[in-house]
Amino acid sequence: MRTLMAWPTGLAGLFLPRRCAGCDRPLMIGEDSLCLHCLTDLPRTHWHADPGNPIEQLFWGKVEVRAASSFLRFQRHGPVQKILHRLKYQGDRAVGVQLGRLMAEDLFACPRFGPVDSIVPVPLHTSKVRQRGYNQSQVIVEGMCAVHPLERPADGLLRVVRTSTQTRKGRWDRWANVHEAFHVPDPSTFRGRHVLLVDDVVTTGATLEGCVRALQAIGDVQVSIFTAASA
Ligand SMILES: [Zn+2]
Repeated sequence: MRTLMAWPTGLAGLFLPRRCAGCDRPLMIGEDSLCLHCLTDLPRTHWHADPGNPIEQLFWGKVEVRAASSFLRFQRHGPVQKILHRLKYQGDRAVGVQLGRLMAEDLFACPRFGPVDSIVPVPLHTSKVRQRGYNQSQVIVEGMCAVHPLERPADGLLRVVRTSTQTRKGRWDRWANVHEAFHVPDPSTFRGRHVLLVDDVVTTGATLEGCVRALQAIGDVQVSIFTAASA
């Protein structure tokens, strides 16, 4: 009986127009998760070819990063915020895959970032993955690898301590806390390699800095960074 009652709602869902993750307009046939208008107007940074761009500056004097950049500029209440919200809080993996595809097309046209040996998403703590159902950065990486296949070591980098208390701590404590939060179970996975770290948003860079430290503690590892958006 319950199945019968639920059926009309499910059926109606099939005929509801899919909506653009950036502007909520109904999508046309052939459009993926973003409408043509949003795709054309995405606020791309165009920073990838610039040594010393604002993302690289975040790591100056902290950790050595081979190259770093961000695909889009994050604007409050703008389409990028809506896209990331759909990906992180509304279970929309498809928009993350499309974002990843666009990111790969944008980044790998830039010689500064090649060649990359392994691609690694910034890990979430397992409790967070259970809660959300997936790691949004992992979804972005799946999209990137769909257009630019790269080695993706499963569980190559793990997050072992919660970092939710970060905001209440001073800079040194925050560094120490994040530093302890990432762990490479098998150093041979990355030794002698150029690793591309991928995250959804970069703000202060503290989380990425923790990942870079964990990777470089292995020795003989080069790290580059690419994020979907820069806040
Ligand atoms: Zn749109």
